[in-house]
Amino acid sequence: MPISEKELKLVDRMLSGDRVALARLITLVESRHSSVFEILKRVNSKASNASQRELGHSYIIGITGPPGAGKSTLVNELIASYRKKDKKVGVVAVDPSSPFTGGAVLGDRIRMQDHALDENVFIRSLGSRGSHGGMSRATKEIIKLYDAFGMDYIIIETVGVGQTELDIIQLADTVLVVLVPEAGDVVQTMKAGLMEIADIFIVNKADREGADKITREIRFMVSLKPREDDWTIPVMLTSAHEGRGIKELVEEIEKHRAFQNERTLLREKREKRREEEFSQILSEIIERKISERLKEGEIKRVLTQVKNGEIDPYEGAEIVLSKIL
Ligand code: GDP
Repeated sequence: MPISEKELKLVDRMLSGDRVALARLITLVESRHSSVFEILKRVNSKASNASQRELGHSYIIGITGPPGAGKSTLVNELIASYRKKDKKVGVVAVDPSSPFTGGAVLGDRIRMQDHALDENVFIRSLGSRGSHGGMSRATKEIIKLYDAFGMDYIIIETVGVGQTELDIIQLADTVLVVLVPEAGDVVQTMKAGLMEIADIFIVNKADREGADKITREIRFMVSLKPREDDWTIPVMLTSAHEGRGIKELVEEIEKHRAFQNERTLLREKREKRREEEFSQILSEIIERKISERLKEGEIKRVLTQVKNGEIDPYEGAEIVLSKIL
């Protein structure tokens, strides 16, 4: 569907720093508006001209862990640290278990409201409207919008449980996994797939009893499984509600960033992302073309023949493809 004048203007306004336009575009992306494809195309083609900055400028931090571990409190502190360095920060809080999206409903928004009035911070919650595959796609697209808007850091927060959350968190350049002293059996946590994705472990609520014990356990687990890329996963202690350990955490994130930069790992991640984006765009175009054409005479006849069992679906698919491509 062609993009309307109004949506074209939204993209231009967003690129020139208009937050209201950014919010509207995110809503369009979330609701899978029919113009999303054209919007993102426009964002891609205009972003570098508008700001003389390539897309891919933002550094993406993922934060995951069980509910109540202190993720939102940590994000709040991270935002504060980056703002002190005059960096722009965008946050996407993804919660597939929540039916709410967009609005100021989730607890994380409340806890992050220290920054609600800051022009250079943008926080958005994403609930499970639509399919789970859709959530991961929407997150990717919101990342692109934030990137084009000029965010220096993008923080993705998820509750670390299902496959959707794992897929989403892997969009990050540095993944933080948050645990708390009362997390219980560390082995169980590791089984949930968090060991594989963590670049930095955080033991939050370090003010509570048992913090040293769980830290030792995680360090031991980490030492058993050296990483292929040679990065040594640090285990950091924080008390997010008092802002303790945050400075060290920020330093460690920068160390991981530098580590990846030195080894071109970051460039490879960006390349892989662009490759995935490209194949996703191709499939989307083909899918759309096919579903449009299935309504038309000749191709519709093939569909009817498949339905009636006159030809098998493979044969039908080949006929349709030969006519479309
Ligand atoms: P999330 O569900 O992982 O986002 O967790 P929240 O950030 O909402 O925090 C859950 C609760 O833990 C809140 O009441 C926080 O104030 C509290 N909390 C966060 N960090 C700490 C900490 O370091 N120590 C203690 N004792 N409480 C904390």
